Amino acid sequence: MAIILSPLPYAENALTPILSAATLQTHHGKHHRTYVDRTNSAIADTDLADQPLETIIAAARARSDTALLNNSAQTWNHGFYWHSLSPAGAPPQGDLAAAIEASFGSILALKVELATQGAAHFASGWVWLVARDGTLVVEQTHDAASYADLTGNPLLVIDLWEHAYYLDHRNVRPDYLKAIVTDHLNWDFAAENLARGTLWDYPSA
Ligand code: MN
Repeated sequence: MAIILSPLPYAENALTPILSAATLQTHHGKHHRTYVDRTNSAIADTDLADQPLETIIAAARARSDTALLNNSAQTWNHGFYWHSLSPAGAPPQGDLAAAIEASFGSILALKVELATQGAAHFASGWVWLVARDGTLVVEQTHDAASYADLTGNPLLVIDLWEHAYYLDHRNVRPDYLKAIVTDHLNWDFAAENLARGTLWDYPSA
């Protein structure tokens, strides 16, 4: 049972003009797919061949297998990222909205924090909304670091690698971030992750 390329939860053109179909075709169809393919090549005919992605990531960390860790963690990060985006983001509601207001003061303040930290992040990485001990925090990770490097349970993530925005926004990462946080985050997905309280499972076949 190989690791799958998790399907986009919306059409390739659903995020136009913020992220074009060409960006999603390349980012999902080529970048994400390559991470999946390299993970599957690395685990073929090993004790990890039939394991879920989260087990593969844990094993790669324990074994200091950098190539497998990078590819498996990037596979997971991208699956989580596609679900973190939404064509028409409804605002946060209920327990999630209350947690955001308690932790950041307002939903707008959280959006500003995500966009500010994401813009300031040096080189490639990810900016996350994380639930930790009953509060919410924004954290950054570098390169292929994943949920395993956070201090709590991830609720949302935004990809900060240039390949996420270059076709549509060139070098202007702040424009990409502003557009995403303004009304293209999937707060329903964040609410599900908050309510569950445990890690999201990468889709399997
Ligand atoms: Mn990416």
